Amino acid sequence: MFFTLKEKHRSYFEEVRDLGWVVLLKLGIKIRKKGNSFSPHTGDYITLCPFHTEKSPSMHFYNNSSRFFCYGCGASGDVFNFISRILGHNYYGDKIKTYRWLKKNYGIPLPWEKL
Ligand SMILES: [Zn+2]
Repeated sequence: MFFTLKEKHRSYFEEVRDLGWVVLLKLGIKIRKKGNSFSPHTGDYITLCPFHTEKSPSMHFYNNSSRFFCYGCGASGDVFNFISRILGHNYYGDKIKTYRWLKKNYGIPLPWEKL
């Protein structure tokens, strides 16, 4: 079977996404399940935003889209972006450190190691 680079890249991020938000517990982020709510903005999990100072949780995590969004500071992204930011890998070149962290902790092969 032949995979293009783009397909390899996509399958890597799907694998990271499939870890789900419980991956954050390993990073010391205490997420909790959001109770029933009629607000369309309510995520499946919430927590105090680690990217700005606040007293009530504005950080929401969505299972369907695998995205996070903070209604306080506007931080947003996917599972990979969140892990990367929490680990302090803020620059584009730091991505490789996030890849390595995910391999070490979850055994996800580096993107260029796949196939
Ligand atoms: Zn925030």
